[in-house]
Amino acid sequence: MRVAVFSTKAYDRRFLLAANAAFGHRLTFFEARLDEKTAVLAEDHDAVCVFVNDRVDRPVLEALAKMGIRTVALRCAGFNNVDLRAAEDLAIDVVRVPAYSPLAVSEFTVALLMALDRKIHRAWARVRENNFALDGLIGRNLHGRTVGVIGTGRIGALVARAFRLGFGCEVLASDVHRDPELEAMGVRYVEPAELLRQVDIVTLHCPLTPETHHIVNAAAIEAARPGMIVVNTSRGGLIDTGALIEGLKSRKIGGVALDVYEQEADLFFEDLSSEIIQDDVFQRLLTFPNVLITGHQAFLTEEALGAIAGATLESLRLAEAGGALPLRVTAEVIRG
Ligand code: NAD
Repeated sequence: MRVAVFSTKAYDRRFLLAANAAFGHRLTFFEARLDEKTAVLAEDHDAVCVFVNDRVDRPVLEALAKMGIRTVALRCAGFNNVDLRAAEDLAIDVVRVPAYSPLAVSEFTVALLMALDRKIHRAWARVRENNFALDGLIGRNLHGRTVGVIGTGRIGALVARAFRLGFGCEVLASDVHRDPELEAMGVRYVEPAELLRQVDIVTLHCPLTPETHHIVNAAAIEAARPGMIVVNTSRGGLIDTGALIEGLKSRKIGGVALDVYEQEADLFFEDLSSEIIQDDVFQRLLTFPNVLITGHQAFLTEEALGAIAGATLESLRLAEAGGALPLRVTAEVIRG
């Protein structure tokens, strides 16, 4: 199959090319992100392969349909950047990689929280300047603290398990489906509003949907325990960033660890170190000593990149053969 692969970095090419030895697709790599302007690059291909910040909205899908493209393959789990209804209307199949390595993201989530909570980011900067003073580096034990996990799917369940069994935390969870295995470990399911009122740490692992958009907002922060720590490795739009900044300024929020950001499409995955960043909200976030941000790297392990490449190329093989697509994502997922 001739595949136009958008938003590719050196590591994408490396893992896709290695996996493609078993498939023989004809891959054309583009650094550009897919959007209305760049869609033209997909001419003379049968499918496009995209990542989290490519824009796959109705106009882009219409342009792709006109070129005869019938498959969009997402190299990620989340699909909030795709207009699934438009894809259905245009008879374009959308496939994703729902579970390439939940461990990669869950382990990173715990690492990010611990780095923030034990002030490792600040200690690292100090030691590089031969400043070995410990003032300001006091952390808290995790054991016995109450952690709230919103979304206990593949990633959230591993996070809940790590905090419950690994660290001996009290764990509250919120999800539209309960996980009996987690309940058997003592994880207690509550409504999201109650969870946000009762926890010392909240970590987000639900998808971004109209229901979960800004699930952490001004009202939730107002009702939260003083000093609540917010961790988000899921999708930026789950948090109202303006409200988060107000919560940090008033000290209601005790710390923030983010791997995703609402407006990340304008920033992440690029080297902007010589640029003037125009996003004042993001720049304000970076000024807080108790905020730790990474640029959407929770998935970035050898294991996950290999699994993403293999699953994506296999879905494209099935699409070419006209068979069923087990990793197809439909508008039904949003409704369900
Ligand atoms: P999953 O589908 O296995 O789990 C999501 C869970 O959220 C499900 O149990 C679902 O029932 C639940 N959920 C849905 N709506 C909810 C709601 N309104 N309230 C509470 N829970 C709700 O997905 P996953 O593989 O665990 O991934 C979770 C998210 O992590 C993805 O949506 C994706 O956005 C994000 N992600 C981020 C990275 C990264 O690199 N930072 C990598 C992979 C995935």
